[in-house]
Amino acid sequence: DSQLWEAGLAVVRALESAGHQAYLVGGCVRDRWLERPLNDIDIATSAKPEAVTELFERTLPTGLKHGTVTVMEGGYSFEVTTFRRESGYSDGRRPDEVAFVSELNEDLARRDFTFNAMAFSSAGELIDPYGGQDALRAGVVDCVGAAEERFGEDALRMVRAIRFAAEFGFELLPDVWEGIVKQRDRLKQVAVERIGTEWDKMMAGAGPEQAMHYLFKSGLLAYVKEPLPEAFAQAAERYRLNGAPPQWEPWGALATDEATLGNLLCLPALPDPDLRWAALLSGMYIGAEDASALLRALRLGGQRAARVAAVAGIFERLGGCEEGERRAAWIGAVLDFGRSAAEDALDIRAACEAPWDEERSWLDQMTISSVAELDVKGDELSGYLGQSPGPWIAETLCHLLAETASGRLPNEKFVLLSAAKEMRALQREGR
Ligand code: ATP
Ligand code: MG
Repeated sequence: DSQLWEAGLAVVRALESAGHQAYLVGGCVRDRWLERPLNDIDIATSAKPEAVTELFERTLPTGLKHGTVTVMEGGYSFEVTTFRRESGYSDGRRPDEVAFVSELNEDLARRDFTFNAMAFSSAGELIDPYGGQDALRAGVVDCVGAAEERFGEDALRMVRAIRFAAEFGFELLPDVWEGIVKQRDRLKQVAVERIGTEWDKMMAGAGPEQAMHYLFKSGLLAYVKEPLPEAFAQAAERYRLNGAPPQWEPWGALATDEATLGNLLCLPALPDPDLRWAALLSGMYIGAEDASALLRALRLGGQRAARVAAVAGIFERLGGCEEGERRAAWIGAVLDFGRSAAEDALDIRAACEAPWDEERSWLDQMTISSVAELDVKGDELSGYLGQSPGPWIAETLCHLLAETASGRLPNEKFVLLSAAKEMRALQREGR
């Protein structure tokens, strides 16, 4: 970390040697102050993008229109952005124009929260014009300027306020919370993937349960542009409870209301963000299809959506199941959604301190869980039965799998072949 920090300062010095002003800014200065691990380093400079590109050997034109060049130095990469001011957010989403400015302080003024509006110079000076350190000491999230206005400019800042509160265990200042309640409908104007990025950071962060609590409580989630699955919207509405405008309640006040909270309280015990998503959604009785739709809407990627959906599918399947049907339902769910989804589901139950011991032992007894593991292949079936290949092969293999997985048949070639023969004969009789 301090290597990364030093490498960042070296880039700052290189810019200064070429006659420009330059500073470390934003999240890295905040995280360094908090002695938290650094994610990435942002640098603000008076140099124009062309000058930055010329000065360093390896650069990428990341966002030239907004003045950002990625500089690769010392094995790290840095986002170097020209001092700028943004004006005229007529759509509450993106500035109408970006003007380059000559002063660091003007650049800091456009930033969202006071603790994100600090800079660090190569001389080791912390520049903090808006009282970022005061907010960090007090443990509060405070906007640069009036919250309501700043949220009107860019509605994503409301989600970010909640992210930082949850991540650091901070409180929102009253005007920040009131700003959210007043401006929350503006979230409709924000591109869903920007919300998805912040939301996913919250799920992976230090206070996922608090983040979700605030997101629900504020009512913000009702204003995501792309419709969230109906099941999710309804659950969010239930959670919001006491109607609008919700009062600011520090997390502790509600931490015991488990019925409303679903699985929120177990989220921190799960290290994997995908399992946190799965636990959150299944705790809200959201099944495979809706879980997949939500994660896709948030642009979290098809693979992750599929993994979370599979786990949600397992819980959905076992949810309304009678005691006597449970074993069959579990085995069916493992075969349909995969063994690793079943393992994930068991991990979630364990994290929620309600382990599924029976299901665990049923899973352990399942010597096989996919057609590929059967000791018989499709062409062997068609050869042995003397029938030309067709859809019947896949059907028969699935049948054999179900029998083998539930322990009714051993996974042995000859046993499986004769069982298949019997099945086919019965089928033909039935026709
Ligand atoms: P993280 O540690 O999660 O990366 P961060 O504060 O660095 O948090 P980024 O999204 O990386 O967040 O943004 C870098 C900096 O850019 C912020 O610290 C803040 O100064 C500024 N910033 C980012 N998003 C906004 C926004 N929507 N409005 C105003 N300023 C913003
Ligand atoms: Mg950052």
